Amino acid sequence: MKIAVAALQGAFLEHEKILDRLDIEYFEIRKREDAEKDFDGLILPGGESTTMGKLLDELDLFDILKAKIENGLPVFGTCAGLILLAREISNDDKRYFGTMDITVRRNAYGRQLGSFETTGSFGKTENVPMVFIRAPYIEQTGNGVEVLSVVDGKIVAARQNNQLVTAFHPELVSDYTQIHQYFIDKIVKNTYTDLK
Ligand code: GLN
Repeated sequence: MKIAVAALQGAFLEHEKILDRLDIEYFEIRKREDAEKDFDGLILPGGESTTMGKLLDELDLFDILKAKIENGLPVFGTCAGLILLAREISNDDKRYFGTMDITVRRNAYGRQLGSFETTGSFGKTENVPMVFIRAPYIEQTGNGVEVLSVVDGKIVAARQNNQLVTAFHPELVSDYTQIHQYFIDKIVKNTYTDLK
């Protein structure tokens, strides 16, 4: 099994450290040839969605990655990565991959609560540490979207088939690997065994 990490901008190194802890093989996507390789899952890190969207276009990565996601490639988007996958962004005209049936609000917590930490549940797992940095939240979900986490009445994690998103940053809590483990076990391995 091999995971690709989009290493264009933002917190990709932190995801790689978690994959190291889990002993999962990975490589970075920086250019078109990287995206053309075979891989079993993709991580879209946090950062700035507008910058990432621009780089995906400029580096000719956008179409190939979108097609792979539409064909069922397991993908895990955190924060800006969540925004890249959303079908609608309620306070922005832009739209990126648009492959997941969710409407999100960017920078949704306003200035005062720009960044904060809390704990919450994720599926059946309780006491998950959650770091939010100028985070979005999910305002609406379509059919087939499973809500995995709600904090203060806002949806902050969800899954639709092969796509997993969190508004918080599990990669920023260095000894916490459970959300990545969920992605690998529940999404990547399922697809992997289905296909092979
Ligand atoms: N505010 C950023 C955006 O809109 C997301 C922040 C993050 O990824 N930590 O893209």
